[in-house]
Amino acid sequence: MKQTLIIANWKMNGSLVSNSKLLTAILKFSNTANTELVICPSYPYLHQVKEYIIGSKIKLGAQNVNENITGAYTGEVSADMLKEFYCRYILVGHSERRALFQESNALIAKKITQTIDAGLTPVLCIGETLAQRENGDVKTVILDQLSYVINEIGLKKFKLVVIAYEPIWAIGTGQTASPEQAQTVHRMIRQYLYGLDPIVSKEASILYGGSVNETNASLLIKQNDIDGFLVGGASLNTESFQAICTLK
Ligand code: PEP
Repeated sequence: MKQTLIIANWKMNGSLVSNSKLLTAILKFSNTANTELVICPSYPYLHQVKEYIIGSKIKLGAQNVNENITGAYTGEVSADMLKEFYCRYILVGHSERRALFQESNALIAKKITQTIDAGLTPVLCIGETLAQRENGDVKTVILDQLSYVINEIGLKKFKLVVIAYEPIWAIGTGQTASPEQAQTVHRMIRQYLYGLDPIVSKEASILYGGSVNETNASLLIKQNDIDGFLVGGASLNTESFQAICTLK
């Protein structure tokens, strides 16, 4: 059975002092959590988080990566560098990066390739806007984002990708998708993968993200095709994050 995967996306939040408090608390409950736990801090704090989690079952992740191996890309960070800093996961194509930094499906596919080639696990974020949902375009948008990457990198590599379905209207808004809404999309993703390869479909880890909190997480995780969460805001609150990570 797949282990539940919970990824904390700290976004551009934190400081040495606040991270330290949060990490001390997370370490205390991490051993009792029956989940794979990943923390994605901002780049400057990777080393700090590493120092805390080393020897624990918590894994480290990054929020972004450059699509090139090395070279004159001022301000950018490569997958190999992230690996040296103990990262195991990289978020790719988060909706904030798609919207604020104009990341295209083509760029995202390149970043996924770099991540896999470095031996790390990419977390491909996909999701629709409210307007797209209201227009009845959820399936088209989601399958377009997914199939673009699969066509570019091939199924053999795609097997290594974690998928995070994050409806954009639910991210940071406090308005989460209902368990039924989330399950419908997760099921659709799994069925699409089944058509390509039943094993890839069965083994795919499909996370839900979008205002997950201690109240809605228990019903969401009971859905057949939800394998874990990508958590933003609630991962910065010790009590909320503990409740999400230790769901029965
Ligand atoms: C996210 O950043 O991926 C996210 C899901 O944020 P939030 O939980 O705050 O909606």
